[in-house]
Amino acid sequence: MPTDIPHFIGGRRVAGRSGRTAAVFNPATGEETGVVALASTDEVREAVAAAKKALPEWAGTTPLRRARILNRFLRILEERTDELAAVITAEHGKVLSDARGEIQRGMEVVEFATAAPQLLKGEVTENVGTRVDSHSLRQPLGIVAGITPFNFPAMVPMWMFPVALACGNCFILKPSERDPSASLLLAAWLKEAGVPDGVFNVVHGDKEAVDAILFDPDISAVSFVGSTPIARYIYETAARTGKRCQALGGAKNHMIVMPDADMDQAVDALMGAAYGSAGERCMAISVAVPIGEKTADALIAKLEPRVRALKIGPGTDPDAEMGPLVTKQHLERVRGYVDTGVAEGAKLVVDGRGFRMQGYENGYFIGGTLFDNVTTDMTIYKEEIFGPVLAVARADSYETAARMINEHEFGNGTAIFTRDGDAAREFAHQIQVGMIGINVPIPVPMAFHSFGGWKASLFGDHHMHGPEGVRFYTRLKTITSRWPTGIRAGADFVMPTMR
Ligand code: NAD
Repeated sequence: MPTDIPHFIGGRRVAGRSGRTAAVFNPATGEETGVVALASTDEVREAVAAAKKALPEWAGTTPLRRARILNRFLRILEERTDELAAVITAEHGKVLSDARGEIQRGMEVVEFATAAPQLLKGEVTENVGTRVDSHSLRQPLGIVAGITPFNFPAMVPMWMFPVALACGNCFILKPSERDPSASLLLAAWLKEAGVPDGVFNVVHGDKEAVDAILFDPDISAVSFVGSTPIARYIYETAARTGKRCQALGGAKNHMIVMPDADMDQAVDALMGAAYGSAGERCMAISVAVPIGEKTADALIAKLEPRVRALKIGPGTDPDAEMGPLVTKQHLERVRGYVDTGVAEGAKLVVDGRGFRMQGYENGYFIGGTLFDNVTTDMTIYKEEIFGPVLAVARADSYETAARMINEHEFGNGTAIFTRDGDAAREFAHQIQVGMIGINVPIPVPMAFHSFGGWKASLFGDHHMHGPEGVRFYTRLKTITSRWPTGIRAGADFVMPTMR
C-alpha cells in the first residue's frame, strides 16, 4: 500500500486537504510507494501563518543559540545519514553511496551555518565625522521560501535553509513532488534539534503551491533550483511581486580535453561526471570536447569500453555505479533525445536504450550512452538531457572549444583537462561560466564558497550558500549615531557632510 506523505506545518505533520495528490514511485521497481499531498493556496497560507507566529522570537534569538541548535541538527544528520540515504535512494533511485555523498555536501552547509555569530558580524567605523560613529547590521528578511528539484532531495534544500535559519529567518520548503519524503525527515530532525515550531515548514505541491508562494505578501524572498524555463518564470514573477529571488536553472557542462591531458585521468573523470547519478546532476558533464582528431580518437577508444562496462543496478546494490532514472516519463524523454541524436546524424557509439535490468523489468533503467561527432546545431548539443548520455563534440583548437562554451545558452559549470598552466589560466579567466574546474570534472564549490552558474543557469545576483547565501538571506542596515555633548549646536539646514 502506498503511504500518505503529508505536509509539515507549525511543527507537526499535517495531512493534505486540497483533495489533490501525486503518486511517488520507487524508480528501481516502478512500484508506487507513496501518495504526496499537493497543497492548495490555503494550505500554503497556513504554513506562512505558522512562520509568521514563530518569526519574532526566532529572529530575536541570539545567533549563538541558533548556531547551537544547528550544531545539534548536524550531529543528528551524522548519526542518521544511512536512514536518510535509504529514503533518498527509494524515491530518487541514485545509488546509496551517492545519496550519502549528497547528505555529506548538505551537512557541510549546516556546518558553515553554525558560524552564524561570526557570519552576522557587522562593520563599525568610529568617527565617520567628529564624534559621529557608524555601524552596519545584517538583519533577517523574515519569511523566506525554497523551491527545490528532484535530483538532490536533501542537499539542495540544505543549500538554502541552514543559512536562512542561521540568519534568523523562518523557512517554507516546497520540495520536488517526485521525491518528497527526505524533506519530512529533515523537518522532524530540525524540530528534535530544537528549532521552534513554525520556523521550518514543508508544503508539498506543484504549480499551485509555487504560485501561492510567489504571490504571498508575507514571503520576502524565494530561492529556487530547477530547470531553466521554471527558473525564469520564478525570477520574473518574484520581481513583479517584489521579492528577492535567486533562481538556479539547467546546465550543459562541457569538459575540454587538451592534447597534453593525462588521458586515463580525463577518462576516469568523465565516467564519474557524465554517468554518476545517471547524469541527473546539474554539474554533470554532458559534452566532452577533445582538441584535435588524435585526442578525440584516443578519448573515444578509451571511453567506449568503459561505458559498455558501467555497472548498473538498483540504488541499494553496493556494486552499482549508476541507478535508474527518476520517473518513467523522464526515461522516455531521455530515450527520445537519443533517437533525436541518431536522426540528426550524430554517431551513436554506445546505445543504452535497449538496456533491461534483470529482476527489475519495471524499473526506469537506461544504459550509459555515448555519442561521437556531435555538432553545435544538434538538439542533443543544445538542450539539457539530464540522463546518462555523453556527447563528444570534436574541436580543432582550444579557441573553437572556448567559443562553443561561451556561445552556449547555459553557463553552470565547465572543466579543462590539461598539463598546460597557460591554457588553464586563460580558460579560468576568459570562460563565460560560473564554476570552473581545472583537472577537476565537477567543480562544486565547498559550503564556505558559493554555488551558482551564469547565463541561463542562474537568474538573480546571489549564488547559494557561503558568503553569498548570508547576503541573500539578510538585509543591511547602517546606523549613524551622535551623542550630544551637552553643547547645543543649533539646527543645521545644509546637506549633512561629515566634518
Ligand atoms: P523542475 O524545474 O521540473 O522542478 C523544480 C521545482 O519547480 C519543483 O519543486 C517543481 O515542483 C516546481 N515546478 C515544476 N513545474 C512548475 C511550474 N510549471 N510552475 C511552478 N513550479 C513548477 O526541475 P526538476 O526536473 O525537478 O530538476 C531538474 C532540473 O533542475 C534540471 O534542469 C537541472 O539542471 C536543474 N538543477 C539545477 C541546479 C543548479 O544548481 N543550477 C541544481 C540541481 C538541479
